[in-house]
Amino acid sequence: TEFATAHELADLMGINAKEIIQRCFTLGKFVTINQRLDKETIELIALEFGFEAEFVSEVEATDVEHLEDNPEDMEIRPPVVTIMGHVDHGKTSLLDYIRRSNVVAGESGGITQHIGAYEVTLENGRSITFLDTPGHEAFTAMRARGAQVTDIVVLVVAADDSVMPQTIEAINHSKAAEVPIVVAINKVDKPEANTEKIRSQLSEAGVLVEDWGGEYQCQEISAKQGTGVEELMEKVLMEAEIRELKANYAEEVNARGIIVESELDKGKGVVSTVLVQRGYLKVGDPFVSGNTMGRVRALMDERGKRVKKAGPSQPVRVLGFEDLPQSGDEFVVMASDKEAREVAQKRQIIRREHEFRRSTRVKLDSIARQI
Ligand code: GDP
Ligand code: MG
Repeated sequence: TEFATAHELADLMGINAKEIIQRCFTLGKFVTINQRLDKETIELIALEFGFEAEFVSEVEATDVEHLEDNPEDMEIRPPVVTIMGHVDHGKTSLLDYIRRSNVVAGESGGITQHIGAYEVTLENGRSITFLDTPGHEAFTAMRARGAQVTDIVVLVVAADDSVMPQTIEAINHSKAAEVPIVVAINKVDKPEANTEKIRSQLSEAGVLVEDWGGEYQCQEISAKQGTGVEELMEKVLMEAEIRELKANYAEEVNARGIIVESELDKGKGVVSTVLVQRGYLKVGDPFVSGNTMGRVRALMDERGKRVKKAGPSQPVRVLGFEDLPQSGDEFVVMASDKEAREVAQKRQIIRREHEFRRSTRVKLDSIARQI
């Protein structure tokens, strides 16, 4: 197999392609600029220039097709929101309040399970999906895997406290990911609440709120009493509107999504929450996800109720994985079981090769240290 061309490799290392061609020549290989180089050559050349070649991402990026979306199939989708903020500033209370106050009539039956994400439909008929995984870790873990899931961050800051280290961390993460922030100044029911102090501290942290002439929307709330929460949701929806978040809603396209969390259930096997990002995920769909694959055996909502399909921005419990996928893994529906298996097997081989190489390197390293 052959990989990058001399030209692509030069780009990756930020050097001139001529240097690569020359180096190949001294290795006894005559190559042209657009010629694909074999793995060995790439590894050698990379080493010569002080780099270590990695081949994983290339294969992962190209082994499943990412077809262009037809613009006509693109429709407005609900925003995906992560609530962030310092510990005890009221993240869980806010989520709980939103969930309790937006229970659709007739839905109250089943017991709500924690599935890492849930969708609420507001009174105005519009929906918002909340990621309900322990905020920061999920956000960073997914980002580390290259998955951009969150559209909007709601930053909770308690008005009886101050802008704290995790507040700053949340601001930095959001900015680095270019995710817009909507500020929620919480606990305004408390007599010692000082909302102006919070605004001032936020501005020092680089978040100048709208009421102070900045660009960040801000809402005073009490997650405990519910005051201001509806207004906060309006602001989130407004932010979403500005971004014109869209997804492919065509029935016939192969669905795609991201693994939010997964677990091994004694009875059901692997159960994973997938946040659908494109198309409709349906029972019977063959898929690959990370190093594993499967066929959708059942889909369930957060009440454990079976559903036939799930569309964009909808979180859904998926049964039918052969193995446990990781949070942040991409979930891709394939044309057939055969194709899904081929891709999964290829990925497993690559992963094993990597693990082998890593362990060999460690061994060689310790041998080197001993002598
Ligand atoms: P988290 O760590 O950010 O998830 O914070 P929690 O939601 O667990 O809240 C921490 C504490 O603050 C709990 O005792 C809540 O009852 C309390 N709390 C949260 N929001 C409010 C609020 O709006 N007003 C008041 N008075 N207390 C609140
Ligand atoms: Mg909490």
